[in-house]
Amino acid sequence: MSRPLIDANRCEGHARCVARAPELFDVDDEGVSFVLVEEVPAHLADAAREAAQACPERAISLTDD
Ligand code: SF4
Repeated sequence: MSRPLIDANRCEGHARCVARAPELFDVDDEGVSFVLVEEVPAHLADAAREAAQACPERAISLTDD
């Protein structure tokens, strides 16, 4: 299992992460992304990686337990 983390200082709010993985990420009213889960379910592992790769600010990290 991996844990998704957002670096709020880097996030610019373009929501590419949400487009790739709406089950995992959302963007708040301030335009900063946040995570919806503590751990990425196995069936969303590919979506989580794609979202991290799609982030142009490199604001998403996935840490393995
Ligand atoms: S794609 Fe990256 S910078 Fe854009 S909202 Fe998602 S985490 Fe933030």
